[in-house]
Amino acid sequence: MLLQLDPEAPAAALSALIQDLLAAGLEPAPVSWFRTPVWGLAAANGHEPDWAGAAQSARANVGVRAVYSGDFELASRALRPEGTRVRVARPAGAAGGDSIEIGGRQLVVIAGPCSVESWEQIRATAAAAAAAGAHLLRGGCYKPRTSTYSFQGLGRPGLELLAAAGRHAGLGVVTEVMAPEDVPLVAEFADLLQVGARNMQNFPLLKRLGEQRKPVLLKRGAGASISEWLAAAEYLLARGNDRVVLCERGIRTFETYTRNTLDISAVAAVKELAHLPVLVDPSHATGRRSLIAAASRAALAAGADGLSIEMHIRPEESVSDREQAISPEMFSALMSSLRPLAAACGRAL
Ligand code: PEP
Ligand code: MN
Repeated sequence: MLLQLDPEAPAAALSALIQDLLAAGLEPAPVSWFRTPVWGLAAANGHEPDWAGAAQSARANVGVRAVYSGDFELASRALRPEGTRVRVARPAGAAGGDSIEIGGRQLVVIAGPCSVESWEQIRATAAAAAAAGAHLLRGGCYKPRTSTYSFQGLGRPGLELLAAAGRHAGLGVVTEVMAPEDVPLVAEFADLLQVGARNMQNFPLLKRLGEQRKPVLLKRGAGASISEWLAAAEYLLARGNDRVVLCERGIRTFETYTRNTLDISAVAAVKELAHLPVLVDPSHATGRRSLIAAASRAALAAGADGLSIEMHIRPEESVSDREQAISPEMFSALMSSLRPLAAACGRAL
């Protein structure tokens, strides 16, 4: 349970509230990353908490603005109606600034290969991404592959190549972290740490990412409901990391023509329910390069704060997700075609 307090709450009302909460077996703790005072309530050790009684006295207290109970209270839009902007670092001196904000008027585009394969591949892809106007470079080094016989990623050497390519091109870098024990290493290289769809409910990973301060891109699980997705974001928020960006990447349905089904309504729904920015990944959503432009347009029209797109310097040679990789030429044409649409949506690209 969360309490949003009136910033002008009289001291007497707050001390009465604390007494009531302690008597109900609860321990209030301030959530420090909200500008308005918010208290999180945890059950005190050794007590059977009286949640109903606590909620009743909170609602009756003049110092309390709102009482929230649910699985994604900290993510709730009501707590921050203006929305959260997540700042992601870029190399010093990068064209367009040393950081980029996700969730503001500016749309943010992440582009790059499914996997980092070699220096030549990632360097050339990064240069093409930057030339077409991408803001961040992606590239997987720890790959969640369906088959254990498939390429699993380059690991640490891949992180080094990715970070170097990002520095060369003036782009911040985004890469997936799959295991809690890899978080410190990946955080050394990445500017935005990606949690893949398969790991959306890897709770030890989420806990570890919540305890560090780099921003996190939380992809929606292919079989996760919107509320499960937001409850996963809450794991990060509850540990003090509010630099959380959501990413819709398609869900599994009966359809087989597309790799997944892009859930466009989820983009609008999470915007309504939560204060966190939302990106769309049209590559994993469709699995087909011919559909990426249309899915990207739909995403922006639905209110997405940006896109994450798989682009490869030579798509036909891509070692993973070849069918959905677009060429630098396709990416550049896509970016140009999205600019008027962004303007029509009141956004900049
Ligand atoms: C990826 O973005 O590299 C990826 C594996 O995507 P997802 O987790 O959405 O399948
Ligand atoms: Mn991929």
